[in-house]
Amino acid sequence: MPVLVMKFGGTSVANLDRIKRAAKRIGVEVAKGYDVIVIVSAMSGKTNELVGWVNETSPLCDAREYDAVVSSGENVTAGLMALTLQEMNIPARSWQGWQVPVKTTSAHSQARIEEIPSENITAKFAEGMKVAVVAGFQGVSPEGRITTLGRGGSDTTAVAFAAAFDAERCDIYTDVDGVYTTDPRVSEKARKLEKIAFEEMLELASLGAKVLQTRSVELAMRYKVRLRVLSSFEEQSDDAGTLVCDEEEIMESNVVAGVAFSRDEAKMTLISVADRPGIASIIFGCLSDAGVNVDMIVQNISEEGRTDMTFSLPTDQVSRAEKALDALKDTGGLNFGELDVDGDVAKVSVVGIGMRSQSGVAAKMFKVLSDDGINIKVITTSEIKISVLIDRKYMELAVQALHDAFELEKTA
Ligand code: ADP
Ligand code: ASP
Ligand code: MG
Repeated sequence: MPVLVMKFGGTSVANLDRIKRAAKRIGVEVAKGYDVIVIVSAMSGKTNELVGWVNETSPLCDAREYDAVVSSGENVTAGLMALTLQEMNIPARSWQGWQVPVKTTSAHSQARIEEIPSENITAKFAEGMKVAVVAGFQGVSPEGRITTLGRGGSDTTAVAFAAAFDAERCDIYTDVDGVYTTDPRVSEKARKLEKIAFEEMLELASLGAKVLQTRSVELAMRYKVRLRVLSSFEEQSDDAGTLVCDEEEIMESNVVAGVAFSRDEAKMTLISVADRPGIASIIFGCLSDAGVNVDMIVQNISEEGRTDMTFSLPTDQVSRAEKALDALKDTGGLNFGELDVDGDVAKVSVVGIGMRSQSGVAAKMFKVLSDDGINIKVITTSEIKISVLIDRKYMELAVQALHDAFELEKTA
């Protein structure tokens, strides 16, 4: 039997009625003759609640216990979904990550999937089971402890299963009916895309579009998984939603495919560090050892052998970064004047593979922002994206202005 992977996100399993609705949708695919692997998230809000409980109990917690608590939301929905399917006379069984087993690294709270042996589930399909309901977001480390895959990780579970079982397709059911030119919650002019190239989706995801976890897109690209994003709230035809695919499959596209943003950014500047070989290595080595995910980096022009070094990072890592840099200063490992922190910034990015061959996108982006009086604090570019750091209060305005200026509401 061909295998289909269907993933239901938090809002799609938010209560028993929604679980029933998703189960009906699964029934449609079973009736078509598929063996279905269903990946479920926790009910919406549940993971946040669990994270809150952990933080309240132990702010600098043991990551192994964080995973033990935070992974539990998915266990509930997996069992409830299997029961709902059984009530519909569809042979179904639930699986927690360790039972499959979804083998991961031991990087707790950020683990990566290393292997998914298919024997256990395949054997059950051979015995007549029609649906394997797997708890997303979780796995088991080589030490035998429960791990989680980072927020939004059920998407990655789904794609990894699609690759491991050579599934015909991986359908991601969510609360929007596809991938849009920007988050439809921020711009009402956002347009649903019929198709988007893997590279563009990868950039959009890593720059803040949380509709898919970045790692899931990476895996889909590497293993050539046909990945589709669609709504769990509407009746679906076979070509509904957005297909994430190779760029060769897309006939025409705009130069800019989409606008992404990331709200929770901070900017730190080390004022007056020595401008000599090895300094950047000391600073960013220390931050990396402290587990800080540095994103954009700018080094200013030097004056009398000293310079300023600016970088961006997620807001919730600021205190960790401050602590690490202060410790470095105290031990004499690094000499700097002051540490300036700006916790109220956001990153806005435009993404499109058309930028490889068309110049002028950056100039246009900067003009649009300046016309709205928005000051750019840091800029980074790659072949297919341009990102700027701006004051957070201008984020929505910037997204909407860029969406308008690049005419993303229109098809190419
Ligand atoms: P799920 O719980 O199903 O995993 P998420 O909340 O993780 O759902 O992702 C879906 C959300 O992603 C949407 O509700 C939307 O607000 C947001 N989003 C951000 N950028 C985009 C985009 N470009 N296209 C579609 N949705 C987007
Ligand atoms: N429940 C997890 C989260 O909220 C994983 C997921 O939904 O993808 O991050
Ligand atoms: Mg998600």
